[in-house]
Amino acid sequence: EQNRLISPAKREDDIDASLRPLSLADFTGQKAARANLQVFIGAAKARGDALDHVLFVGPPGLGKTTLAQIIARELGVNFRSTSGPVIAKAGDLAAQLTNLEERDVLFIDEIHRLNPAVEEILYPAMEDFQLDLIIGEGPAARSVKIELPPFTLVGATTRAGLLTTPLRDRFGIPVRLEFYDVSELELIVKRGARVLGLGMSDEGANEIAKRARGTPRIAGRLLRRVRDFAVVENVETVGRALADKALGLLDVDPIGLDVMDRKYLTMVATNFGGGPVGIETIAAALSEPRDAIEEIIEPYLIQKGFVQRTPRGRLLTPHAFRHLGMPEPAADPS
Ligand code: ADP
Repeated sequence: EQNRLISPAKREDDIDASLRPLSLADFTGQKAARANLQVFIGAAKARGDALDHVLFVGPPGLGKTTLAQIIARELGVNFRSTSGPVIAKAGDLAAQLTNLEERDVLFIDEIHRLNPAVEEILYPAMEDFQLDLIIGEGPAARSVKIELPPFTLVGATTRAGLLTTPLRDRFGIPVRLEFYDVSELELIVKRGARVLGLGMSDEGANEIAKRARGTPRIAGRLLRRVRDFAVVENVETVGRALADKALGLLDVDPIGLDVMDRKYLTMVATNFGGGPVGIETIAAALSEPRDAIEEIIEPYLIQKGFVQRTPRGRLLTPHAFRHLGMPEPAADPS
């Protein structure tokens, strides 16, 4: 999975920091989320209070981390960042929390992966800005309370259903991020090209945007590949033909489906007659973890209308068969 060029998951070699928008005004798309945040940030600043805790929900690469950084910047406070799997012990989180200054933003990526003992610490911290710690062990153990400065926790997760109810309920500002449409991705590609000093025609931007799987992180990655190509071919302004040629070599199809997406669709079509088929069966057949399939592959296929989640399992739509160039199976007589 890590080797999917088009995977929206973060990769070590991402040097996409230079493409990150730095303010809400600079951030393209997610209109509803931006409007909401604008109001809440404005109100918190006017009152001089910490912003209420924010939970970002959405597939990888849509801008959750970027928005968390923007929130801190707009509030004029420090940005501290960690992630669920990195915080092993309650003490690790306690250390992070006691280092915060008033109204700071603490970002916890993949917050659904916090272990339960760590999550317990978070409840009073979020609710009363208090840390309840047990010091020592056995009969000598005692509990201490530490006052924390008011702060804003910004959590990010791929699906709200992955969070426990008590944790989810402690976020005053839940924000759902959606896949971007092609016109928004065109703007992101053009802005990225400007940052990289690359000439980009409308057609070139459109070709990249169409193939970016609704995801700015992928748009950035495709843009870099196209730029490499443009450099090698000594082209100053990227047109449709160059973008098409560069991206065709990457095995990204014209609507942004990559090898993994097509493998999923082809497998369900040929081995299971288009379904319905259970997610566990799909995971076994693709040798991919169920989580990765549900959080990375399926959301886009569902959004595109290729796959439906039904009570009896995943079902390919006629649209999917058309895209694969395969005949639809005869109607199920049952
Ligand atoms: P997430 O945290 O949701 O996985 P990130 O915030 O890390 O996603 O964004 C991934 C990449 O996409 C970053 O390089 C960021 O610069 C870029 N990006 C995300 N949203 C936007 C946007 N609205 N406009 C421009 N670039 C964006």
